[in-house]
Amino acid sequence: MKRGKVWTFVAGFVTAAALVAIVAFRTSGADTGATAPSPAAVAAVQDSPNPTAALSPRDVYYPGSEALAPDEMRIIACGTGMPNARPKQAAACWIVELGNGDKFIFDIGLGSAERIAAMKIPYDYLDKVFLGHLHADHIGDLDALWIGGVISNRQRKLRVWGPSGADSTLGTAYMIDRMKEMYAWDMASRQGNVNTLGLEIEVNEFDYKAVNAVVYEENGVTIRTIPAIHAVDGSVSFILTWNGLKFAFSSDTYPNKWWMEHTKDSDLAIHECFAPPSIMVNKQQFTVGDALNVATQVHTSPAMFGKVMSTIQPRMAVGYHVFNDFDTQPQIIEEVRSTYGGPFELAVDYMVFNVTKDSIRVRMAAVDEDIWPLPSVTKKLAANPADRIGFSDFVTSGRVVFEDVIKFYYDQTNQMFGTDFKPPK
Ligand SMILES: [Zn+2]
Ligand SMILES: [Zn+2]
Repeated sequence: MKRGKVWTFVAGFVTAAALVAIVAFRTSGADTGATAPSPAAVAAVQDSPNPTAALSPRDVYYPGSEALAPDEMRIIACGTGMPNARPKQAAACWIVELGNGDKFIFDIGLGSAERIAAMKIPYDYLDKVFLGHLHADHIGDLDALWIGGVISNRQRKLRVWGPSGADSTLGTAYMIDRMKEMYAWDMASRQGNVNTLGLEIEVNEFDYKAVNAVVYEENGVTIRTIPAIHAVDGSVSFILTWNGLKFAFSSDTYPNKWWMEHTKDSDLAIHECFAPPSIMVNKQQFTVGDALNVATQVHTSPAMFGKVMSTIQPRMAVGYHVFNDFDTQPQIIEEVRSTYGGPFELAVDYMVFNVTKDSIRVRMAAVDEDIWPLPSVTKKLAANPADRIGFSDFVTSGRVVFEDVIKFYYDQTNQMFGTDFKPPK
């Protein structure tokens, strides 16, 4: 059995600038032409005539510091784990950025919102979310993007695409309506305190049975849906095409005929590569029967993933949706390699793929943990104080007002920003 070459880089420095690098597990070696450190980078260090020159090419992606070429697609793993929360891997989430300026989020699972924030993309651009199905590990941070995005300067509505379900209570529109109801207090509390344009949600629910149907077509970008087989009816996978490039994302699915037919010749194909039964028993305390059912009937285990990729033959296959650790990765890769010999990465969070017609470059992002919200891309609008709901007389009667220090803050802030606000009476 051929085992993929395994690179393990440990780049775990915490610098004064609080840059946190990540432990990166590389799984494909020479297959992809995307390994690091590259011979060129090593040579650049060894041969540089100038000890103060910057290295080029860089083997790390620093969010917010690299222009995207007009013909380039950048795909960022913001969640590659499982429904179980863990610091190292959030649940399903991928950002796709295109050289025409468009950006898309595919699934937004538990824990992914902070990874999204770490990519230093203004929230106005993060207004399009495609949901493959409604499991918590694929939608769990939608609220964080929705309301957190409002606080983080998104001044436009959030647009959400997702499938219908077997009945009207199992579809995306129903879920969004209930999410809004769940956050009734939160939404009321924002009125008049922040600009709330971003609280509006546009819901685009489409038929989960639609086969290769267009659900999005704007600005030269087409996104199609195909049915997926996962848990119950109402799961889909997506195919994005733009500028001659093809990106396929499974969300979660059992191997199926629609994926096999419509994702052929993808440039990047991301498909679940779930924990095999033995790992579910040993690591997650599943019973043997439950592990066999979940790993081989509900999900796609690694050797099944390999079969899928051998059929569609993408330029690069990406597996995700598994805890990718030093002690699970070798077995997973060995099982994938028992059925698939092509280019392959087993993703971890912050893995970054730069795709053009000529190359696919794979790197890890180095993340600034001290990220603050970026400015809005349009002029920041103020809240209207008249919209504030305010308090009952009962709660108001409990206020303890420190007039002297409140005056200090008003005076200090007015002086700093050249304004003339007065404390409310
Ligand atoms: Zn699922
Ligand atoms: Zn899942």
